[in-house]
Amino acid sequence: MPEGDIVLRVARRLDLALAGQRLARGELRWGDLGDVDLAGSTVLTNLPVGKHLLTRLDDGRTLHTHLRMDGSWWITRAGEERGADRSHRVRAVLGTDRWTCMGRSLGMVDLVRTRDERLVVGHLGPDLLADGVDLEECGRRVRAQGDRPIGAVLLDQTVVAGIGTLYLAESLWAHRIHPLRPAHEVSEPVCVTARELMLRSADAPLPTATGETAPGRTSHVHGRGRLPCRRCGTPIAELQVGPPDKLRPAFFCPRCQPA
Ligand SMILES: [Zn+2]
Repeated sequence: MPEGDIVLRVARRLDLALAGQRLARGELRWGDLGDVDLAGSTVLTNLPVGKHLLTRLDDGRTLHTHLRMDGSWWITRAGEERGADRSHRVRAVLGTDRWTCMGRSLGMVDLVRTRDERLVVGHLGPDLLADGVDLEECGRRVRAQGDRPIGAVLLDQTVVAGIGTLYLAESLWAHRIHPLRPAHEVSEPVCVTARELMLRSADAPLPTATGETAPGRTSHVHGRGRLPCRRCGTPIAELQVGPPDKLRPAFFCPRCQPA
């Protein structure tokens, strides 16, 4: 599941291929955007905002995409797509004379005026991975959620943006905090830790130029249900957090992170 670290990594890779370059191809395969042709526009930047990505063009438009559960961007040299760009999974193709970037299984594609970007990302809290993000303010926003369980609060992108189930679990484990502890009781710097872990992942070198893996991601608790805690050996447990219609797993150690 892509979280802020993956989106930051994607944005950097897309910048290497596209920033400052004129698009030779700009195809969107998403609802009524199918007739849009972005070719001829120049890409200014790819800006990650939490788990969202804003690809700004020089014609005053912004392509807004979201990876959701399974999305990814695949980059090949132009002319070496070998039909991959025609896959039914591809939702966007942004290409220059040198590179072809294919957005596969994207969960969201929008085209908005750049001055209207807040329509698509204005609901988000501060981006934990943004340069100069005010981490003390992030901590205050988390504690201001009162009795809400900290696990649900960290997943709520309107409070702070970028954390998914992996960094929720890892950050709380690092500070020995139970996922159901009320947010107002959490004085530990969980946002600082989440940012550090995500940046460590985003900055880790990729094994190949086009690889999709996340080599800098390490999991102490996430996805390790019933396996021994790496700190105390107790079997890792799992509970569900979030609104009833959007429950997500929170892995934790019952001994290190007591209720
Ligand atoms: Zn433990």
